[in-house]
Amino acid sequence: MSLADTIVARATPPGQGALAVLRVSGPEAIAVVDGLFHGRRAVRDLGGFEGAHGFLRHGNHTLDEVVVWVYRAPASYTGEDLVEISCHGGRLPAATVEEALVRSGCRRAQPGEFTLRAFLGGRLDLTQAEAVADLVAARGRRAQERALAQLEGGLARRVRATAGTVREVLARLTVFLDFDEDVPEAPDQAALAGRLESVEKELAALLAGAATHALAREGIRVALAGRPNAGKSSLLNALAGTDRAIVHETPGTTRDTVEIEVEWAGVPVRLIDTAGLRGDAAAVEREGIARSRREVEEADRILWVVDGTDPDPPEREELPDPTRTWVVLNKTDLGAPLSGWVNDYSPLDTFHLSAKTLEGIDLLILGAERELLARLDGSGEDRPLAVNRRHAERIDEARIAVFRAREALQAERPVEMAAADLTRALAALGEITGDSAAPDLLERIFAEFCIGK
Ligand code: GDP
Repeated sequence: MSLADTIVARATPPGQGALAVLRVSGPEAIAVVDGLFHGRRAVRDLGGFEGAHGFLRHGNHTLDEVVVWVYRAPASYTGEDLVEISCHGGRLPAATVEEALVRSGCRRAQPGEFTLRAFLGGRLDLTQAEAVADLVAARGRRAQERALAQLEGGLARRVRATAGTVREVLARLTVFLDFDEDVPEAPDQAALAGRLESVEKELAALLAGAATHALAREGIRVALAGRPNAGKSSLLNALAGTDRAIVHETPGTTRDTVEIEVEWAGVPVRLIDTAGLRGDAAAVEREGIARSRREVEEADRILWVVDGTDPDPPEREELPDPTRTWVVLNKTDLGAPLSGWVNDYSPLDTFHLSAKTLEGIDLLILGAERELLARLDGSGEDRPLAVNRRHAERIDEARIAVFRAREALQAERPVEMAAADLTRALAALGEITGDSAAPDLLERIFAEFCIGK
């Protein structure tokens, strides 16, 4: 993968649409597009952030009618000369244009190569590059907000500020080491330890953000369980149909579980109807039942749907893990719910509702949103950031190293020991922003991107 190459890729997904966008980046980007472009102005005469309308032609062959937009180095996404070509959408136009660009000397880009070039060119730090991937993958408003805050450099700023403090403390210790016996003045170890303590607090605060970010990004899985005919499918439809939810069906799931994703409190919530949980199932259904059981076991939350008119309501033993269960007493439109029965199940959260008339549905959603908000706000972050698992591991490593350094200072052990730990902490923090990242780390991160990003 050479940076001297001029690369091309589609920036828009395949499929039918009004437009498709291709990006060309690298030293020959402007010349290559200029060679194919026929319009009132030549591409090479366009300044940065200037566009032109025209046709792309290869020999006598017209490829498509396009708008080209020029970004000149270093003021582009990649930091290189970059041309964006908007052509017609659909399967063929973009493929035809891409093919012609490749014949004119461009190389098809690797996944994430545009963003990798932006990183290597100093346009983005590593956390911002990851934020681009996070933003594109965001399934809920909370994850989107965090990715945007990160794109503006939020996490990198805090990590670099913290690293700055560590570096200052290390410098004070190093002076002491360098001068050996002739040191003008020994470092005030207590004061330095105090500064390291504040670093530990900041790192712990960043770590707390990792848990809430996982929630914002991955959301939760909610399994609807209960006896046949309790109203699980009806409740799923009712929850999906409310105007509070942004809904899309997930195709390709098994015949026995139906999943729908809604967004509550800005968090993606995957609702799973475990219709396969039937005691009297024929052999062909067993696989589905096993799958349903697994869904219930793995769900963050179980909605245990009970038919409020059931003359023989379920026993306590049928109840799935009570720590994760909310009881939904369904079919209130048919009369008084089983109030005596409910008492047996207190203090479990119980919702009385009708999946048919939708009465009481709002309270269930409100309850779920309250719980999600409490978990999201629990970390007390004022501007939440997208602290992912990779960041969290390095932050934790730095925190432990700083803690050990502080202990060494407080116990007045040889200064070399604290200095070694602080050097380790700095390396870990540098890997977060990419200020000191090994090539294989970069490869791993950018391999997760899709083509054209
Ligand atoms: P599942 O087997 O648990 O998925 O149950 P379904 O959602 O298929 O519902 C079983 C039957 O109960 C269907 O005939 C539904 O129309 C009916 N049902 C579900 N919820 C309600 C409700 O709140 N009120 C009334 N009256 N009927 C309901």
